[in-house]
Formats: sequence, C-alpha cells, structure tokens
Amino acid sequence: MANPRISFEYFPPKTAAGKDKLLNETTPELNALGPEFFSVTYGAGGTTRDSTLGVVSTIRDAGIDVAPHLSFGGDDEDAVAAILETYKARGIQRLVALRGDMPSGMGTAMQLVHANDLVAFIRERTGDHFNIEVAAYPEIHPESKSYQSDIAFLKQKLDAGADGAITQYFYNVEAYFYYLDQCTAAGIDKPIYAGIMPITNYENLARFSRNCGAEIPRWICQRMESFGDDQESIRQFGLEVVTQLCQTLIDSGCPGIHFYTMNQVEPTRAIYNNLGL
Ligand code: FAD
Repeated sequence: MANPRISFEYFPPKTAAGKDKLLNETTPELNALGPEFFSVTYGAGGTTRDSTLGVVSTIRDAGIDVAPHLSFGGDDEDAVAAILETYKARGIQRLVALRGDMPSGMGTAMQLVHANDLVAFIRERTGDHFNIEVAAYPEIHPESKSYQSDIAFLKQKLDAGADGAITQYFYNVEAYFYYLDQCTAAGIDKPIYAGIMPITNYENLARFSRNCGAEIPRWICQRMESFGDDQESIRQFGLEVVTQLCQTLIDSGCPGIHFYTMNQVEPTRAIYNNLGL
C-alpha cells in the first residue's frame, strides 16, 4: 500500500527566538522526514498577518513547499487580494482556506466570512494558481446545526473550488471512518486528510479540545489522569495511542496525515519513526 501524504502544521512563533528556533532547528529536522509540505496557521482576525508571511516566506526560500492558512478575519476584499498577490509573488502554490473564529474581545464587531466564500474569492482572483484545502470535522464543528448540514457545508467548500480537506484532530477513529462514508454518500469525492495531534501536555489538550469540537475518549482521559504529574508516562502512553491511531488510518488507506506539530520535533518524529514511514 502506498504511503500516505504527510504534512506538518506550525503556528507562527511570538518571539524572534521562537522564530529562529522554528526555522533553523525544527524545520530542517522535520523536513528530513520528507513531508509533502508544511502549513502555517493564521491568527484570528488577521493578528498574525506579518508573522505568518515571515515564516512562510523563509520556508519557501529554503525550497520547501509551504501552505499559509488564510481567512478574511475582518479584512476587506482588497486586503485579502493583496495577500494573495504577495503569496503568488513569493512562489507559494498552496493555501488552507478558513473562516477562522472571532478574536476574543471583538464581540460582534467583525463579520466572519465562511470558508466557501473565501475559496470562491481565491478562485475568482487567482484562477487555478493555488492548491486549496479546507477544514473538515469528523466529530462535527461545534457551531453546526446538524451532522448533515456540516457535511453539506463541507461539500459547498469543495464545490467552490477546494482540492481537498484536512480534518480537525480526533482520537475516535470510528468517527473519521463514519464521516468519510457520510461524505461519500453526500457526493464528496475529494481527499479528506486526517489531522493528528500528538499527545504531550494532557491538561492543555483537554482544555483546547473542549472548544474545538474534538473529543478525548473517556478511556484516554482516565488513563492520562491516573499518571498525575508523571510526564514521562503521559508521553509514552500518548505516543502509543497516537501511533496506533495512525497505523489504523494507514492500514485503511487514509490518503494522508497532517500532524499538528505544535512547533515541536520530537512528538511527531517519534510517531513517524514508530510507523516506519
Ligand atoms: P466554515 O467552513 O465557514 O464553517 C464554520 C461553521 O459554519 C460550521 O458550523 C459550518 O457547518 C457552518 N457553515 C459553513 N459554511 C456555511 C455557510 N455558507 N452558511 C452558513 N453556515 C455555514 N483557525 C484559525 O484561526 N487559524 C488557523 O490557521 C486555523 N487552521 C485550521 C486548520 C484546520 C485543518 C482546521 C480543521 C481548523 C483550523 N482552524 C484555524 C480553526 C477554524 O478556523 C475554526 O474551526 C472555525 O470555527 C471554522 O472555520 P472553517 O473554515 O471550518 O469554517
């Protein structure tokens, strides 16, 4: 069976030292694993406009394929068109197109633009230049009215011109398989790559998961909590669980795995090595 596509996600570091480490230490080590591309998140409301561009440009200049994430985030069409032109000029050929979330403290001051409209806008302004991927939610986006409507909106984003989707992370592999079946039944025939979050810091993961529509199964919570402050046992158990998850995905012919690296080498590399990719 062919190896799945592998990609690695970063967020733009807040400090110069963090950026230096990401670009000069983390990226060469992760790139040695042979990913198809890196992606770099975009802060709510365009708050990382410059830092996302900075990280993306440096990675691209090193000859590595990279996909900036993008959302309208309160910007008007001219501002987003200008960002698209900048990326084109820098040789970027991939994008991850999102609605994003309202930055805290913004209230209703900002109008969120759904991802399908952003995809249509990118296609209108730049034709086929970019390979565009969008977000998908095997356990369903937290604001969705229903399971089927979330799938219908995913189809809308793909029909607007996206080439594929990357999922929110999940630990319930059955949820992903069921979701793929439901997407196929809804007429979706584009690849839905699995987003995978290595487990390192359990408390942070549990807090984040409550907001983003990803469930940590009870048996994993129970086991993690039983380790208390024993970080080495948490790391070891997390590695086993996520390796097994990825192995099941690969055995089922999953088209690709997108690692949420959290800007760290080791958790992702350890899973990667366990899988013998
Ligand atoms: P949409 O596809 O617009 O969907 C949002 C909600 O609205 C869903 O409930 C959907 O069912 C519904 N919906 C969709 N289209 C319509 C429509 N046309 N009319 C009415 N309802 C609709 N966040 C960031 O801030 N920065 C990032 O870089 C980032 N990267 C991400 C990468 C991945 C792979 C994933 C899975 C998520 C990422 N996120 C990021 C989080 C994402 O921005 C949030 O989950 C956000 O709440 C939804 O974005 P979306 O693009 O999925 O929105």
